Amino acid sequence: MLENCLFCKIIRGEVASHKIYEDSKVFAFNDINPQAPIHIMVIPKKHISGLNVVLEEDEKILGYIQVVISKIAKRFPEMKNGFRVINNCGVEGGQTVFHIHYHLLGGRIFNWPPG
Ligand code: AMP
Ligand code: ZN
Repeated sequence: MLENCLFCKIIRGEVASHKIYEDSKVFAFNDINPQAPIHIMVIPKKHISGLNVVLEEDEKILGYIQVVISKIAKRFPEMKNGFRVINNCGVEGGQTVFHIHYHLLGGRIFNWPPG
């Protein structure tokens, strides 16, 4: 947990969010600026600033987070035919919040390549 990190504050309940999922390791909440009918942020409770600085010891949590994403997606009929998971990494990757997070998007058809 990092004192001044927005997503750490959301995990601690110091900044309000619409919670979608929580367990001892992972937290998920609605994105404040949704880019699809369903747009959920899925984050580890451990503060990791981005995918560019993960450690060997993060293997378990980063694997587990995909299990959680799959579990969350199953709860939404809108995602039964598919969904998209995105990690933006670093400034050139479009990252704006430096607590690693996975965007879970669903409820519409997505294009490829992304912008
Ligand atoms: P990224 O640009 O990949 O770093 O994604 C950061 C995401 O966090 C964006 O989609 C924002 O809309 C979202 N976001 C920023 N502040 C909040 C907040 N207070 N509650 C929920 N989502 C947020
Ligand atoms: Zn954080």
